[in-house]
Amino acid sequence: MTVRVRFAPSPTGELHIGGVRTALFNWLFARNQGGKMILRIDDTDQQRSSDKFLQTILDSMEWLGLDWDEGPRKDGEFGPYFQTQRLPIYQEEVQKLLDSGKAYYCFCSAEELAKQKERNAQKGLPPRYSGACRNLSPQEIEEKKKTCRSFVIRLRVPEEGVTVVNDLIRGRVTFENKIFDDFIIVKSDGFPTYNFASAIDDAKMKITHVIRAEEHLSNTPRQQIICRQLGIPIPVYAHVPMILAPDHSKLSKRHGATSVQEYRDMGILPEALINYLALLGWSPGGDREIMTIEEMISLFSLEKVGKNASIYDLKKLTWLNSHYLRTKEKSIIGEMAVPFLQKKKLISGVQTEEDRKYIEKVVDLVREKVKTLQEIADASEFFFSENFPYDQAEVAKHFGREGAELVIKEIIKALQEVEPFQKETINLKLKNLGKSLNLPLSKINIPARLALTGRTMGPELLEIMVLLGKEKVIERLKKAEALCQKA
Ligand code: GLU
Repeated sequence: MTVRVRFAPSPTGELHIGGVRTALFNWLFARNQGGKMILRIDDTDQQRSSDKFLQTILDSMEWLGLDWDEGPRKDGEFGPYFQTQRLPIYQEEVQKLLDSGKAYYCFCSAEELAKQKERNAQKGLPPRYSGACRNLSPQEIEEKKKTCRSFVIRLRVPEEGVTVVNDLIRGRVTFENKIFDDFIIVKSDGFPTYNFASAIDDAKMKITHVIRAEEHLSNTPRQQIICRQLGIPIPVYAHVPMILAPDHSKLSKRHGATSVQEYRDMGILPEALINYLALLGWSPGGDREIMTIEEMISLFSLEKVGKNASIYDLKKLTWLNSHYLRTKEKSIIGEMAVPFLQKKKLISGVQTEEDRKYIEKVVDLVREKVKTLQEIADASEFFFSENFPYDQAEVAKHFGREGAELVIKEIIKALQEVEPFQKETINLKLKNLGKSLNLPLSKINIPARLALTGRTMGPELLEIMVLLGKEKVIERLKKAEALCQKA
């Protein structure tokens, strides 16, 4: 049997971190088992679904490298992969249920249902459907069809017995059938409900394992009842625990970025997000944290997914991100930094080969101490522009002091003589300058660094000088000389 899993997002919002984690677990399981990953679009909520969200979801998945074997942009033999394009399939199944008496038309109006609900509440009963339309005769149905404005179709749910969900993560979960009423399978707009469409699609698409968020566990017995009534196979289920905010509340916008797009905009690398999300709820055993995609695929198993909710931890994500920023090939990080540099207007749209090499060197210098691509752009402003800001407190401290201007003048004079302008030659010259002025090297390096970068901390000064080149270095030192007079 080939393992077939599906990720079934609704295009009613951006791809949320919980959704990606579900997608990732499906994907890792499929790849580990040599199975197939199906992407199905649950777009029956016509009011809330939009093409814009669909495109963002697909782009986010592609950006993360979570590829699918069948679905949008990649047709397969079990399509269509959009639920709104599968209406005839659901209609056919509904007809079977109506014909065999396993489903029935319900003409109860919204007011009637509300009244029923109220009556139940007064009696302390759950808000169940009363079954008013359960046993209408064919004539009554025909008449009501003429007079009622709308109707729905309900599934006749057995009142006796239990429905057992054998969940790979949660174990055996038993539901008494009497807690379910005759629930709706086709809405008044003619569209199937989520449970109905999902159960049918999982069977028709030959899904073997349904791996999804824990919040759907309560839907699973209903989907199993639908399968049983239709005589279609029931897949194996695995409900993945929730992701909670650090304060254990539901993760939401107020806790910071929650969609893939936002992480991308922040400068998180796809591999860091994947690595981070893989560890949210799954552990390969031991204290392994940093893993390549190949390692995750080979180690992944649903048995090792925990039952408890996971706590979202931005610090861990940025820690992983800085690891990947430091260790990935510099040309790749350079390329990834380009849109961030462009957004800050530090570089233009087109880059020559020479520009690319320069960006690569800059990125390689600043990446040691940053956590995101955005921080790379922030930390490298002075490499691309003469309009970088100066830390005013440091300017007052180092350029305002007695003799500061003289030191800068001496540095300029010394550096003008350096030829070729390389690390070793500059280093020797500055050391000698320190000796001749009887100053510790820090009294030369700090003002020089402040003049060149506007700050007193950052990458190695000699590297900065070489990268900026002699001309810019002298120019900026002259600017600093002027600042000394003002400070
Ligand atoms: N469209 C549903 C959701 O986004 C899918 C749930 C499922 O996987 O069955 O939550």
